Amino acid sequence: MDRPVAPLEGSSKITRRDHRLGTNHASRCTQSRLSRRNHVKQVKVLVIGAGPTGLGAAYQLNRHEGVDWLLCEQSTEIGGLSQSIIDDAGYTWDIGGHVWFSHYDVVSNLLAEILGSDGYYEHRRDAAIQYGSHWVPYPFQDHLQALPGDVRTECLAGLVEAAITAASGSQGPPENFSEYITAAFGIGITEAFMRPYNEKVWAHPLGDMSWSWIGERVSVPDPIAAIRNALGAPKDTEWGPNSTFVYPKSGGTGAFWDALANTLPQERIRLGARAVSIDRENKIVSFEDGATIGYEYLITTVPLDITARLIGDPSLIELTSGLSHSSVHVIGLGVDAAVGERLGDRCWMYFPDPELPFYRVTHFSHYSPANVPAGIDGSSLLIEVAESATMPVDTDDLVDRVIAGLVSAGVLENAEQVSHVWTHRAEYGYPTPTLNREEIVSLALAELGSANILSRGRFGAWRYEVGNMDHSFMQGYEAAARALTGCAEPTLGLDGDR
Ligand SMILES: Cc1cc2nc3c(=O)[nH]c(=O)nc-3n(C[C@H](O)[C@H](O)[C@H](O)COP(=O)(O)OP(=O)(O)OC[C@H]3O[C@@H](n4cnc5c(N)ncnc54)[C@H](O)[C@@H]3O)c2cc1C
Repeated sequence: MDRPVAPLEGSSKITRRDHRLGTNHASRCTQSRLSRRNHVKQVKVLVIGAGPTGLGAAYQLNRHEGVDWLLCEQSTEIGGLSQSIIDDAGYTWDIGGHVWFSHYDVVSNLLAEILGSDGYYEHRRDAAIQYGSHWVPYPFQDHLQALPGDVRTECLAGLVEAAITAASGSQGPPENFSEYITAAFGIGITEAFMRPYNEKVWAHPLGDMSWSWIGERVSVPDPIAAIRNALGAPKDTEWGPNSTFVYPKSGGTGAFWDALANTLPQERIRLGARAVSIDRENKIVSFEDGATIGYEYLITTVPLDITARLIGDPSLIELTSGLSHSSVHVIGLGVDAAVGERLGDRCWMYFPDPELPFYRVTHFSHYSPANVPAGIDGSSLLIEVAESATMPVDTDDLVDRVIAGLVSAGVLENAEQVSHVWTHRAEYGYPTPTLNREEIVSLALAELGSANILSRGRFGAWRYEVGNMDHSFMQGYEAAARALTGCAEPTLGLDGDR
């Protein structure tokens, strides 16, 4: 089987595409961003990290005339976890399937403005969970009719039992996520889907996790609706904020962030600028290339535990070492066109089966046909495998195990349908909402805030529940407004201070 492996991210062979302004413009911008390093400088607001949070901050700062600010990013690319990568064979990949949906008018308007009305596809979510040989539409608990009879009965019985127990008030509130899912979903749904799936995606014991984060991330079951659906009432697949989503026509999710960065003053963006230490007392950040930049306010989107190490304060390092995260192995596969044809409009699939290494598979060429290089009659799949200190992954034969798993799950007919492989590993993938997270994060953010250091973003504030692209952008946008005016930050629920 001809299965070339594309180089990892960071290889010089990987190219990026500026979907709006053309590659020449993009590389000119990159040159101008890179060539301005080494200047010793003092700014009002220094932003570290050009992912969605840093770009949200920069976008806000740029709206205020006369404010001196600078955005520094260690990578030579914009976008952080939300960037897209075009590999040497021309396939476009996200770091895990990213879909755009927004809770905020600012972000929705910006999306439309930046991508243009014909710059994106609008998709209706078609997602399903594999249970044995059955496909259960997402959310699982609303589609028990798709399960085999005995499992359906167990799920319904458990759901009703859980509802009766809750109504009796005989049980106190759940103490952790594991207890929460049993109390809310009942034992049947918990064992068929919720426990095995969440153990895979979080790679963390559910008993050590809180459930305060679930909000709109988990569809809380309505027993009456579940019974109605199980008895054959019309399906409801519309639940949740991502029931419809948009995706750029070309350049992947990252095309948006590249284009947004190109609207900002290029002299205020430095790529390849890795912060290596933060002098909290003197308000100076030092960079790997020897440059130093003084600030009045620092917005850091670096993972909170790393920020503590950059500052070098032993008690802050000790405090934040209690935080947990998981990593994500992302495997992109170029596959036969027949695979995509069979999947049809299916957007993504969840796999709770512990025997399969992956938790989610995205039908990535369905998001945009341009994710497959022009001239190739094929489809692409994006596969995610979670890893953590407590659940390590053997990477030696991971790609082979993933492909074998796809064959056994029936997504592929055989391994020969794979013609191209790309791999990437994100060390910081999911910030785990552990039981101790709230205390650690609120103490750390308060301490940093008192020194004008605003740690924000998916890992800057360690918040999965407000850690999507739109939330992250708004975390940065609101943090920058705080730096300028002292206003509150609704996305993180932080009060104003002036
Ligand atoms: C598998 C997966 C799937 C996802 N799917 C979706 C989705 O479908 N929809 C959605 O909305 N969101 C999704 N997300 C979330 C999305 O990726 C994040 O919301 C977003 O990227 C977080 O932005 P951020 O700026 O906070 O962090 P990041 O994107 O991590 O950016 C931080 C930046 O800081 C830089 N940096 C770090 N250290 C330094 C340093 N020392 N010096 C200088 N720069 C530094 C990094 O290089 C990086 O560019 C997904 C995430 C994952 C992992």
